[in-house]
Amino acid sequence: MEECIFCKIVKGEIPSEKIFEDEKSFAFLDINPVNQGHTLVIPKEHFENIHDLPEEIVSHLMKVSKKISSGLKKFGAKGVNISINNGKDAGQVVFHFHIHVIPRFGNDA
Ligand code: 5GP
Ligand code: ZN
Repeated sequence: MEECIFCKIVKGEIPSEKIFEDEKSFAFLDINPVNQGHTLVIPKEHFENIHDLPEEIVSHLMKVSKKISSGLKKFGAKGVNISINNGKDAGQVVFHFHIHVIPRFGNDA
């Protein structure tokens, strides 16, 4: 089976703008950002969606998302949206679990 695009990003086989990395997680800028600073937080291990994800990884990735949200605030975000699309019908396009962390700047529609 062809390996998924986010697994390739974790391995460095596809370039990305890395924001954060630790043993279990990787965070990088979205290639097609909703707003400047739109970040994706992913597990290094491949899981398709939240239903497959071990609970300790869910909580770890939420902690990382919080860290990134605080960083975005320091860089001027007035608010932050955190969202997850699970399944094609929910708008998931890349089937490697990811959390969208999107800075908001007020009046940015
Ligand atoms: P989804 O709709 O699955 O929740 O979102 C997938 C996200 O991954 C989209 O926002 C899309 O722009 C982003 N994306 C897809 N391919 C790549 C890629 O190769 N590199 C990066 N940095 N982001 C990607
Ligand atoms: Zn993957």
